[in-house]
This record gives sequence, structure tokens and C-alpha cells, in this order.
Amino acid sequence: MTGHELRTRFLKFFEDRGHTLVPSSSLVPHNDPTLLFTNAGMNQFKDCFLGREKRAYVRAASSQKCVRAGGKHNDLENVGRTARHHTFFEMLGNFSFGDYFKKEAISYAWEFLTRDLNLDTSRLYVTVFTDDDEAADIWHKQEGVPRERIFRFGEKDNFWSMGDTGPCGPCTEIFWDNGPEVGCGKPECAVGCDCDRYMEIWNNVFMQFDRSADGTLTPLPKPSVDTGMGLERIATVIQGVSSNYDTDLLRGLIDFVAEITGNPYGADADNDVSMRVIADHSRATTFLIGDGVLPSNEGRGYVLRRIMRRAARHAKMLGYNEPLLCQSTGRVIEMMSGPYPELGERAAYIAKVTRNEEERFIQTLDNGLRMLTEEMARLKGEGRSRIPGDVVFRLYDTFGFPVDLTADIVEAEGFTLDEEGFEACMQEQRRKAREHWKGSGETAVDAVWRELAEAGIRCEFTGYGRLTDHGTVL
Ligand code: ATP
Ligand code: MG
Ligand code: MG
Ligand code: MG
Repeated sequence: MTGHELRTRFLKFFEDRGHTLVPSSSLVPHNDPTLLFTNAGMNQFKDCFLGREKRAYVRAASSQKCVRAGGKHNDLENVGRTARHHTFFEMLGNFSFGDYFKKEAISYAWEFLTRDLNLDTSRLYVTVFTDDDEAADIWHKQEGVPRERIFRFGEKDNFWSMGDTGPCGPCTEIFWDNGPEVGCGKPECAVGCDCDRYMEIWNNVFMQFDRSADGTLTPLPKPSVDTGMGLERIATVIQGVSSNYDTDLLRGLIDFVAEITGNPYGADADNDVSMRVIADHSRATTFLIGDGVLPSNEGRGYVLRRIMRRAARHAKMLGYNEPLLCQSTGRVIEMMSGPYPELGERAAYIAKVTRNEEERFIQTLDNGLRMLTEEMARLKGEGRSRIPGDVVFRLYDTFGFPVDLTADIVEAEGFTLDEEGFEACMQEQRRKAREHWKGSGETAVDAVWRELAEAGIRCEFTGYGRLTDHGTVL
């Protein structure tokens, strides 16, 4: 079954059970300043859980575009290193807004996995929140899952929150055993281990509270259900592979990068990481630009810039010195515009923005890397292993190296960054900019505006008056 078929299969299953299919919302959350990017299927339904919004349905299902590259859920550092984390991924979800609760949610999830998809139950495990006996009993008594396959975990794993505030609640999760050959091999390796063996595939959250900024939990008007299953992960299971990157949703991109850079995939561990990073970041770049984010120096745009520059550096590590992302994003569009037609409509725009950003960075990448290599050699000679803040700042300011990119490069050589020193340089630059601004703006134009405002005079458009000598309307 292809990834696209699997997405459809999930949605159909829940549609047949009374759920309204709702299209994915944008990666840029609307009206939610607490969120950097859409990080879960439930985001667009936040107000339904809080009881602030009523919709025509109380059951919904979706396949949601998600990016986890900042904020509470940040997987940027995991990308390329694990077989199961991406910056961009799709989250399949079914939702109940005050309709069904634990019993039905668990029943649907188990039915979909074990009867619709026919998964081998001897490779499945479940977890519940520490004291959630009710959920544990449902798993055991209602679904027949043996007690020894039900694990209990605390807040970190089994209490889901969207962010520091907002809807949250205890959850139950389903794991798939990818087999011993995939794991870390440690004797203590079990469900909950960080390695790729026991892969979390589906989280069923029992939405019960609204967390406020001071940490207080207020019960929601009605207990609800929010679930999330990574499409790429369930594709790994169903396609019988052991890495998301080997599913048809990503493998085509890996092969594309392998071919264009002339490096076979699977021959060298470091090169493989680079290829996975590029494949992942190509998808994030395509979807983020497609949803209107532009690379820039702040906020969402800066996260996108970091992703793109990191990909460009990995392309270089593979010995490729031309812009690569503007080609691989084209491949993403070919692979994904079926379910996401907006990508096809914006293909030319995505290519243009990507190429511009890449060209700008590639020009300075070599010089920055040279500077950094020399600096590391010098420090090594002195027996030091910390890159000074002013060097990190120069790389940032002159060569366009985001700090995490520099960290990524030096880590492999055993160096750390003086982040405080870097912050001090940033502060100094901000101070200088403020002074410069004060010196020019405030004395001239701003002072005039202030005087006018103080005198109660407002700027008002009164229509076009007359033409000047140059034909301009005044
Ligand atoms: P993990 O513990 O593996 O990092 P999570 O507990 O952070 O996952 P949830 O917030 O519970 O993930 O999200 C619901 C589901 O979305 C997960 O069970 C998983 O299938 C999928 N998922 C989460 N993060 C990612 C990611 N970075 N890349 C791909 N799929 C993901
Ligand atoms: Mg996670
Ligand atoms: Mg988890
Ligand atoms: Mg989880």
C-alpha cells in the first residue's frame, strides 16, 4: 500500500464511522500567537476543545501538515539521526468534540490497526498515563491486550500538551516493534527507549483540561478525544521497512539526492545522514514556502532559513556545490501535489524563492566554512575546545550562518560554542542600531509627528488634490 493510499484508507475508515473529513489547515497557524508552526492535527480544532467554537459536526478526521522545528515540539536535531523524526510530516487524526471518549477512541484505533490494516498484534504495545486505570482496563478487558504489553509512563510521555498553554490531557500511545536488528541492542531496551526499535505510531489524547499560563489546569466543558498518527511511521510499518526514509513517501527523494550528488545511499553512514537531512528539509522547505513563509531573519522565516541553510551545507558535504534544494523541492512537488494541489499551483514561486535563498547562501558558505576551519585549527593548537562568541557572531553576521548551523558543524569536531559571548555581541549590535536610529529618525521626522499628534492633528486622506509639474498627483 502506498503512503497516499494509506492516507485515504485512514480517512475513509473514520468517515465510515461518522467523522466529517476536514482538510489540513495551513502550516502557519491562524490567530494563534502561542504557536510557531502547526505541530499537530488538533491545532485547527483548539477552540472546539475549549468550547469556544461550535461546528456542524462533533466528530472529525484529517491528515494534517505539521512542522516540528521550534517551540515545544522541536525535532530539528533528530532529523537524519533517527529513522522516525522529521521536521515536516503528516499527522493522521480522528477527533471527538465532547462526543465519544476513551472506550470508543481505543476501540477505533485498535480496530483500524489490527482489523483494517491487519497488523501483527505480537509486535504492538500500548502505554497509558501513570494512574489511568480506566484506559489500562479498556485495553485489557475490551480489546484483549495482555497486561504485560501495557506500560505506564508519566507526564513526559503520557500527558500531551499542545504548548505551554491550551488544551491537554492524559494519553494512551501505541508502539510498533521494528525488530531487534533496528534497536540499540542494550539489555534494558524496551518500550520507551530512545532508539528506533519500539516506534511510537499513534497517540490518543483524552482532552480534559485547559492549561493556563500559570500552569493551572481547568477542566474542559466536555471530555474530548484528539489523536495523532504519523503517516510516515505507519507507512514504515505497512510497507515492511524499518525507516520512514525507506517508505515511498521519502525514498524517491533520497534516490534523487543520491543520483544528483553521485553518492549511493547506504554506502557511508555520514553521507546517509546528509541525504536524509536534505530529503526531510526539502519537504519542509516546499510546504513552508507553499504556505507563505519566506526565509528571513526573524520568527518563522528564520526557522525556514535555518532549515534551508542546513540543507545547503549537507549538499556541500556530499560534494555538491550547486543549488540543490531548488531541484529537490521540484521533486517534492511532483510527489505530493496529488493530495496537496496548492503545491502544484505555487510550483514556480516555490522554485524561485528557494533558488534565491540558496544562491545567496552558497556565495558565502565556502568563506564562512574556511574561516571556521582555521579557527578550529587555531583553538586546537592552543588546546581549547570552545568557539568564542565573536567568531560565532561574525559567522552569523557576515556569512549568514545561523547559530545552530555553526553548532552542528563544530560538534562533530568536538567543539562547543560560547553562546553567552555570542548573545553579548548580538546585544551590542542591537544597541548600536538603536543609537543610530535615534540619531537620525527621532530628531527629524519623528519629532514632527509627535508635535502634530500632541497638538491633536491627525493624518487624514482627503482625496487627490492637484498635479505637480511632473504629473504626479499630490
Ligand atoms: P516521539 O516520542 O516519537 O518524538 P511524540 O510523542 O513527540 O513522538 P506526538 O506529539 O504524540 O509525538 O504526536 C503524535 C504522533 O505523530 C506520534 O505518535 C508520531 O506517530 C507522529 N510524530 C510525532 N513527531 C513526529 C516527527 N517529528 N516526525 C514524524 N512523525 C512524528
Ligand atoms: Mg517527539
Ligand atoms: Mg512520544
Ligand atoms: Mg507521543
